[in-house]
Amino acid sequence: MRNSKKLNFLITGVSSGFGRAFAEAALQAGHSVIGTVRSEDAKQAFENLASERAIAVVLDVTDFSSIARTITSTADSFGPIDVLVNNAGYGHEGALEESSLDEMRRQFDVNVFGAVAMIKAVLPSMRARRSGHIINITSMGGFITMPGIAYYCGSKFALEGISETLAKEVADFGIKVTAVAPGSFRTDWAGRSMARSPRSIPDYDTVIDPIRSARQEKSGHQLGNPTKAAQVILDIAGSPDAPVHLLLGSDAVKLVREKIAKMGAEIDAWEKISVSTDFK
Ligand code: NAP
Repeated sequence: MRNSKKLNFLITGVSSGFGRAFAEAALQAGHSVIGTVRSEDAKQAFENLASERAIAVVLDVTDFSSIARTITSTADSFGPIDVLVNNAGYGHEGALEESSLDEMRRQFDVNVFGAVAMIKAVLPSMRARRSGHIINITSMGGFITMPGIAYYCGSKFALEGISETLAKEVADFGIKVTAVAPGSFRTDWAGRSMARSPRSIPDYDTVIDPIRSARQEKSGHQLGNPTKAAQVILDIAGSPDAPVHLLLGSDAVKLVREKIAKMGAEIDAWEKISVSTDFK
């Protein structure tokens, strides 16, 4: 399925983790990558990966007013974007009652509004060219939930819904949209990148503390391999067969299947009540 055509990728968050792995795989396959970073050091390190074909732009995805201008002017000199990978994001951890609305806004600004702003920046050119692929990195947390990551799951459910809707809106223009939902992968996600609200309400000790310590202990030992994920992204990028939803990782497949089965059983159990509200 791998695309033999040389593509121009735009990948957000290429300093570490998935974004770095996706960019390295694309560069190794001979594609070109514009990567977003948040420091001059990260820009230098990224551009050292491949002269001419690796271009880094310093951009925070919440800098909404400058995204379109930055991306348009970079694409003007680099060439049109064939594949946008909306990867930049982070996890917020904290019981909902202990976590401020500002923390929720920040989580949605980065994981949802930032991704949508990037999509808006590339769509006019993709639509004009009647081709393109938008790949949004969501999470298995866009399907399943657990205590302590309400804001994160909310943001990833939102990006799943936006991706699926957008796929229907732009299909006739030859543009594909894929929401990629990884399980637990070995990146900086649960380490330096995670925002953790301080604990303040003892009632939540038994539900939040074990999950928080388990996540900290597991960081760096997750089953998912970002390099293998990158090969999958490379296989689907620009492919007419790319799915709208793609899970990555055996944990994601198991947990999402369980969730769908549980939901199906609940719909069955409540069907009589559910259908009782129609006008006759
Ligand atoms: P990571 O190694 O921490 O990488 C996160 C990347 O996002 C970094 O390059 C970071 O840049 C960038 N970033 C964060 N906030 C940003 C902002 N406001 N503007 C621009 N860039 C920003 O973690 P990762 O696991 O690779 O995360 C990538 C994506 O995968 C995220 O969307 C995450 O939610 C998703 N995901 C991860 C897992 C997992 O288990 N690892 C599972 C499911 C989904 P800096 O270096 O400047 O901080």
